[in-house]
Amino acid sequence: MAHASVRLSRLVGVVAFLLLSGRFAWGGQKVASDAIVVTPDALSNGSPFLLTVSLQEPATAVTGNWQGHPVEFFSSADRHTWFAIAGVDVEVVPGTYPLTVQISSVRGQQTLHEDLAVDEAAYTKVPLTVPDKFVEPDEAALKKIAADKLVKDKAFANSATTPQWSDNFVPPLHLAPQSDSFGNQRLFNGKLASVHRGLDYHAKMSTPVAAINSGRVVLARPLYYEGGCVVIDHGLGLMSVYMHLSKFQVKVGQKVRKGQVIALSGASGRATGPHLHLGVRWQGSYLDPAKLFEIKMPPLRPSR
Ligand SMILES: [Zn+2]
Repeated sequence: MAHASVRLSRLVGVVAFLLLSGRFAWGGQKVASDAIVVTPDALSNGSPFLLTVSLQEPATAVTGNWQGHPVEFFSSADRHTWFAIAGVDVEVVPGTYPLTVQISSVRGQQTLHEDLAVDEAAYTKVPLTVPDKFVEPDEAALKKIAADKLVKDKAFANSATTPQWSDNFVPPLHLAPQSDSFGNQRLFNGKLASVHRGLDYHAKMSTPVAAINSGRVVLARPLYYEGGCVVIDHGLGLMSVYMHLSKFQVKVGQKVRKGQVIALSGASGRATGPHLHLGVRWQGSYLDPAKLFEIKMPPLRPSR
């Protein structure tokens, strides 16, 4: 009997710890205190992450700020649990950065603070050779590049205010292997250095490219560096970018489902050969797509 009660009290202790640490918060279960959980728990430059805020009382609104970027939340049906996707730009210097979360409820406002450590990811330096026009663009090319920037800025400016995705994000190609190219520091023709802000897939010409999740097409056109380019808005500041395409199968404004073929791969723009470049952009930051695929998303349906 005594033995059983010791076991019981140990179990109660574990449950209390899990509740306090907010680890069992999905589905709006009661929590012992308001808590923020960051998934994954170790971050580096280029990491996307999922925030889960578990509240004792339902909130009317939750907003956040991370490294100067707005963090946009969505909630469970009972408004006790709030979720957001955020991320650390690939070029962020390692260190500790504050995350703040503002909670509005019928009782008023409160702010939660959490300091998040950002480790240094091990990215490599890679020399590449491309046609000279991509390293030293002439005047006509510079005009085109400037015009492209306006088009992209417009596409990136407006993200849906509700999540358009459902469940986990999936790779855009299933048979083509991904490279470990995200974050590489690249030396084009020995001259221009830039950080590779996406993931390359070894795709031969005209391989069907699928949307990594549901959303709305906000750009579908040829650009100078990007070549054939499609951008899908997934909502709450999260977008996916597909480059070097040879053929478009979607138009701007069109809603697409996860896994839907949006284009055929190619070698257009600043490409060393046929491949697909996939970028994941959150509030202007570029994140590692491979790490986004690893995050288990909350089981909520997208709003339409
Ligand atoms: Zn690339």
